Amino acid sequence: MAKKNNISVEIKDILGKLTIEDLQIKGKRVFIRADLNVPFDDNMVITDDRRIRSTLPTVNYAIDEGAKVIIGSHLGRPKGRVEPRFSLAPVAKRLQRLLNKEVLFANDCIGPQPEGIVSKMKNGDVLLLENLRFHPGEEKNDEAFARSLAKLADFYVNDAFGAAHRSHASTAGITKFLPSAAGFLLKKEIEYLKGVVDNPVRPFVAVLGGAKVSGKIGVLENLANKVDKVIVGGGMAYTFIKAMGYEIGDSLVESDMLDVAANIIDKLRRNNVKFYLPVDSVIAQSLEPGAETKIVTAQEIPKGWRALDIGPASVKLFSEALQNAKTIIWNGPMGVFEIDAFSRGTFSIAHAVADAYALTIVGGGDTDYAVHRAGVSDAITFISTGGGASLQLLEGKDLPGISALTDRKD
Ligand code: AMP
Repeated sequence: MAKKNNISVEIKDILGKLTIEDLQIKGKRVFIRADLNVPFDDNMVITDDRRIRSTLPTVNYAIDEGAKVIIGSHLGRPKGRVEPRFSLAPVAKRLQRLLNKEVLFANDCIGPQPEGIVSKMKNGDVLLLENLRFHPGEEKNDEAFARSLAKLADFYVNDAFGAAHRSHASTAGITKFLPSAAGFLLKKEIEYLKGVVDNPVRPFVAVLGGAKVSGKIGVLENLANKVDKVIVGGGMAYTFIKAMGYEIGDSLVESDMLDVAANIIDKLRRNNVKFYLPVDSVIAQSLEPGAETKIVTAQEIPKGWRALDIGPASVKLFSEALQNAKTIIWNGPMGVFEIDAFSRGTFSIAHAVADAYALTIVGGGDTDYAVHRAGVSDAITFISTGGGASLQLLEGKDLPGISALTDRKD
């Protein structure tokens, strides 16, 4: 049951796969594929450990059940080579602090070294393996590499939603060799991004933004059959505005997407979906801090000027359109919110989404960051941990890391 304010939704089992709770893991070796791909500053200090925290329920469950817990993850893009700056050793320390329990660390993820450590593990012990992507076999989904990973464990649990759209050895290949189940985070992501989206309490509103139409076209196509309203802001809005025949000055436009945008507008109209675009914009001639800005209507963006944020009238319009929503999904900022002068639209919409009496789902790294910067993350029902994976689900596609898990037989 998901709840926010007066909204509650019964979430059915839409996963259809084994979950960690279906496995008898006491005394067994369990390989948990987590997404511990956290950001670091220049001094190698972790700047945001939410990815580690979000997998704690699965890790703690396995510890409490008396399993031998072996965790694998990638970090960055070392491209199949050992690169010390992408070592997971600092993550092991943070995990140890968060679990309040010793975390063993193996300098490799396959071979005699981790195998030796695993053979001495007691029930409830935790081991973090070194970066899976130090081996080229990980991203190539090499069978021999997947088999070496599987050799470490009796069961496989995937909790790495952020990597579930990849068909890699640790997300797909390994499932050929072990009974494979979903962790709690993976299950929750699917329940919201598929369960709620396919079965929403209405009115259901999608808010989409970000740079490009091309990045969100699949999502728009899929959601056009499910939502009651679509609100489009951000750079992608101007391809739609241009497709409707307006001048957009030097705003971001994808000329090869104009027909696609016009077709989407048609499809939304045919489906009786209300479609909202910015009615005004904050414009500037450059992104330089301190550059002159103006607010103009969507019809009056002059040549040489770029629309870089939605304007106050659009904020009001979008906020009103959100007011009667019972389910909201938001992916993509309303402007170049990284720069203060163009951040107000995104932050205002963050507040409007948070204040709505609706079940609210936020996806995508930028949008996640925006709701945190706006200080409203606690008022959002669910914030997805996956960027590419959440978009792929919203496009209505299967994720290889989920399809590969063992089917539930009941
Ligand atoms: P995406 O990864 O497609 O969700 O795009 C996110 C990026 O879109 C952010 O870095 C924003 O700065 C950028 N963006 C949002 N609105 C605009 C705009 N009006 N013009 C140019 N870039 C934008």
